[in-house]
Amino acid sequence: MNTVKQMTFRDLLKRFPDEEACKAFLAKRRWPNGVTCPRCGNKRVYTLKARPFHWLCKSGAERLDSKTGKIVGCSKKNGYRFSVITKTVFENTNYPLREWFRAIFLMLHSKKGMSAHQIHRMLGTGSYETAWYMCTRIRAAMKDEELPKLMGEIEIDETFIGGRDKNRHYHQRSHSAGPYASGKIEVMGAIARKGNIVCQMIEDIGFHTEKTRAEFVRKVVSKDVSLVATDESHHYRNLRKEGVPHESIQHGQHEYVRGKVHTQTIESFWSLLKRGIIGNYHKVSAKYLPLYLNEFSFRFNNRKNADIFDAIIAGC
Ligand SMILES: [Zn+2]
Repeated sequence: MNTVKQMTFRDLLKRFPDEEACKAFLAKRRWPNGVTCPRCGNKRVYTLKARPFHWLCKSGAERLDSKTGKIVGCSKKNGYRFSVITKTVFENTNYPLREWFRAIFLMLHSKKGMSAHQIHRMLGTGSYETAWYMCTRIRAAMKDEELPKLMGEIEIDETFIGGRDKNRHYHQRSHSAGPYASGKIEVMGAIARKGNIVCQMIEDIGFHTEKTRAEFVRKVVSKDVSLVATDESHHYRNLRKEGVPHESIQHGQHEYVRGKVHTQTIESFWSLLKRGIIGNYHKVSAKYLPLYLNEFSFRFNNRKNADIFDAIIAGC
């Protein structure tokens, strides 16, 4: 199905034989229009000849840090020194970029994801803790800064991760004790057919939950949707009133497809997500679930992008 030619591991080793190649690549991705000061945004920075991939900003943009009482910024006198990894996920680690790049490659090219344990074993260097730290930071870099608006035919659905009857659909779940009682975490998702997935963990349980769900829907549905397909869940009952072309199928009555009205696209994403999470991470807490959602969404949304590696580096 996937006809896009993505980089092979062999290509990766060839492209990034040493730290210098990695740094040059990172600088180009990070600053496609020329090096910019990560602190003040100044473009007229000085190259430090003696230290490759280091620059100096003397823009004069300074301010008083109210916490420390010190003047911080890019003073005209001493300036602010920064390197290619300053304010990136690669900062504050002594781990070589080459290893980071390999870890990123492994995470991107495994459809169901890869745990820190697997990455650690495959890289064969560093400690497990380092691998875990890298994976966590890479997942954070995969986040979309804003929820994108979806167009065309879209499907919206919610699912629960964790707990016993996690694979069951809404009408099949036991509601007696409530889904949260058994440690399940709710995730809402919207997918544009043949397009992107957006998902979000629904955090506040109880009084505000309904509001959070409604806000999610409002944020992801653009004015250009031609159909919003959902199941019969009451979360979506007001969509028509708001002018959204909403149609629902009655899962409770064993109706799964009615012409264009179905939620099969998003359900296949849920099954990919759950198989990945169960297979790699066994169980997942509310603390880390948003990171896994970033990872699975990023990979899914870039499935046809031959430059997926470049895309992630630009976001690091
Ligand atoms: Zn500056």
